[in-house]
Amino acid sequence: MNKLISVEEIRTMLQYLKAVGNTDYGVRETRLLGLCLLIATLSFGFIFYQLGFTAIVQMDCVYFLLYMGLLYGSLKSDSRIINELMLLSSLSQVLIITIFFIGTGPGLHLYSIGMIPTAYVVIDPHYTKQRMRVISCCIIGLVFAETQTFFSPIYTIAENIQYILKASVTFSVSFMVFGFYYLFFNDIERQSNMLKHLSEIDELTQLANRRHFMNVLDNVSCSSKQHSLLFIDLDHFKLINDNYGHIVGDDVLIDASRVLRDFCSDGEIVARLGGEEFAILLINNPRQSAIARATSLCKSIETRQVPIKGKSEVLVSYTASIGVSNLTNDINHSLSLADDAMYLAKQQGRNQAIFL
Ligand code: GH3
Ligand code: MG
Ligand code: MG
Repeated sequence: MNKLISVEEIRTMLQYLKAVGNTDYGVRETRLLGLCLLIATLSFGFIFYQLGFTAIVQMDCVYFLLYMGLLYGSLKSDSRIINELMLLSSLSQVLIITIFFIGTGPGLHLYSIGMIPTAYVVIDPHYTKQRMRVISCCIIGLVFAETQTFFSPIYTIAENIQYILKASVTFSVSFMVFGFYYLFFNDIERQSNMLKHLSEIDELTQLANRRHFMNVLDNVSCSSKQHSLLFIDLDHFKLINDNYGHIVGDDVLIDASRVLRDFCSDGEIVARLGGEEFAILLINNPRQSAIARATSLCKSIETRQVPIKGKSEVLVSYTASIGVSNLTNDINHSLSLADDAMYLAKQQGRNQAIFL
């Protein structure tokens, strides 16, 4: 079976990939991060206030204002700098508190571990340098806080409070890691579903493309001679392009795809094979009924009138030639029979359906 991807499909996929590169990747997550930082600063600020560590509370107030500004910025724009600033500010906040004020006992510096998956989620994969910068800072900061001996903490925290602080830090770091991993994989799943969908449809007509159609045929049971294939080719389509231009030609293709979609019953599938060629799988329609339906399709198509944008008085009519064949286990052969039947219909004067 011919499973090669057509140029048209590759173009669609490339356009999609380009679109992914330009989407607001991580914008929602950056806002979520901003909110988490505000809540964390407020809660720890409250704890330090209760402990009487005024210097830390004052510093937390400054960071609180900074996060408010960054969160506001992330709501107003999707600037790539905001997410990096948020991550680096929060890293500096936990490191300053750890190194200068309370030491590594309460484990506040462990937030830098949670920031690594967070950086993966909030920073666009296209900005590798930005990601690497943040991740390196997190690792260096963590190692430095753990190993440095130059600064001794100003405040001493009682063992039991240290224990409570460490428990809450461990809990929130785990939450951060799992939460952001969840968002990350969720996003990947959403994007791969979208990519799968886009790889199966034709961009202009939104019908199934050839590859998807062939996959569907592969999975249809052909044990009895119940199913039929229609190979539809618009007549003298080149003349429509030549007389009215490609845009009108495209409108005719869209109009034809609408007729074909309406023609299909539940479970049947219509695809654009390429250019002005379409195919339909008719389920439980043996020879006679398939010919009758194909003939009625020709009649519906010949009544169509497509208006030209800006020249509503000019209406473009078109017709189609249809080849009909039985669907057997040899799908390629069935399709080529339908194709031959379509050529026969062309030779016999077009705008008709023929069974082979
Ligand atoms: P016949 O009745 O024998 O089928 O003649 P025809 O003119 O329909 O067939 P031919 O193969 O000579 O021309 C098909 C034309 O379809 C040529 C090509 O430029 C045009 N075409 C293919 N894809 C598209 C498209 O996506 N949009 C437009 N506007 N034209 C297309
Ligand atoms: Mg053709
Ligand atoms: Mg044609």
